[in-house]
Amino acid sequence: MARYGELFLKSEPVKRHFIGMLLRNIRKALAAAGKECRYETPRGRILIHGDDPDKTAAIVARIFGIIDVSTCRRTSTDLEEISSVALTLASSRLKAGMSFAVRAKRQYKTGLNSQELGTLVGSHIYDNIPGLEVDLDTPDYEIFVEIRDIGGLVYDNRIPGPGGLPWGTQGRALVLLSAGIDSPVASWLSMKRGCEITHLYLDAGRWAGADVTAAAIDNHRNLSPWCSGNPLSLVIACSEPLFDRMSEHKVPPRYRCVLCKRFMFKVAGLLMAHEGALAVVTGENLGQVASQTLANLGVVDQAATIPVIRPLITFDKEETVTIARRIGTFKTHPGDLACRAVPKMPATAAVLEEVLAIEQQIGMDELAARACTGLRFVTALNGNITEEHT
Ligand code: ATP
Ligand code: MG
Repeated sequence: MARYGELFLKSEPVKRHFIGMLLRNIRKALAAAGKECRYETPRGRILIHGDDPDKTAAIVARIFGIIDVSTCRRTSTDLEEISSVALTLASSRLKAGMSFAVRAKRQYKTGLNSQELGTLVGSHIYDNIPGLEVDLDTPDYEIFVEIRDIGGLVYDNRIPGPGGLPWGTQGRALVLLSAGIDSPVASWLSMKRGCEITHLYLDAGRWAGADVTAAAIDNHRNLSPWCSGNPLSLVIACSEPLFDRMSEHKVPPRYRCVLCKRFMFKVAGLLMAHEGALAVVTGENLGQVASQTLANLGVVDQAATIPVIRPLITFDKEETVTIARRIGTFKTHPGDLACRAVPKMPATAAVLEEVLAIEQQIGMDELAARACTGLRFVTALNGNITEEHT
């Protein structure tokens, strides 16, 4: 049984549409794992019938829109049957000396109320397993019983899901994905809010550390299980000529980072229409590095032709790292990711007029257009790279 959260607040037609998307995503993810299941959608719940419930629950617990998942025993609404199934389940987990609580819910207001149902099932367990204690506040073990129009449900686990909105309900965003820790988290957070994603990585060639491209592709691959069953695209554009040009023209090194970020936005702007994307997402974070001061973010934004979303803008590094570990994108041995173009003292407050003059001088727009002509495409599906072409 999967529960969904925020979808509940939507109007009926929107809710129906979103639940349809959620079901489609669950189906695709389970089909990708070779599972054929049967589905029911009683109010507020998605019931999934099939073999191997633990594996099924683990897959569904990674789907955006899902609050939590439980593996359940399905019963009739008969109270004796419910009590007996609850006792069987509890017997396998409870031992003398342990405390427990029954959490009961009834969809209808007639007959026993929820509290009476809980007491009934609790007494049956208490009377049949010796040495137990009831503790409704901090029990060692919790068991849940629900009586709904579709029958009874008995379960004792709640596997947390990611929450958010179903993948695909908010349109597509182009995510600037790097080899680092931040942008994969930004990508995940955008997916969590329902965006379909295309990743864009700028390959700086000999200006980038030896392991940068492999690490960026790895981030891409590691994010793909979060939209299981949907192929995830990565577009790779080459930014090496930009750095060569800045070097030839002796552009003040302190402006390189801001120019590099503006270049990324220009390339993203040129690819938006092709990718059908409505916004660009970055892992930028206020004050993290010199190019991410408020003043510089403004100068960078001026190069964007589409809305820029920065999910991590107010996060502390530790908050980002915590999410990265949880979603499987954190790396302990990242390799050589050092950018060879980063100056000792990057400008913290670039002057827009100077930046525009430099761009005129180095032919920035022509460089961005050229970067869009020799693209590479890498598709990831369920944690594997499935296709690469130019
Ligand atoms: P991250 O911020 O993801 O840890 P980073 O620290 O290497 O990576 P920053 O210099 O902090 O990168 O860049 C800020 C943001 O710019 C990144 O979060 C990412 O969205 C984008 N970005 C940086 N480098 C690249 C790149 N080579 N290709 C695409 N996007 C990039
Ligand atoms: Mg960063």
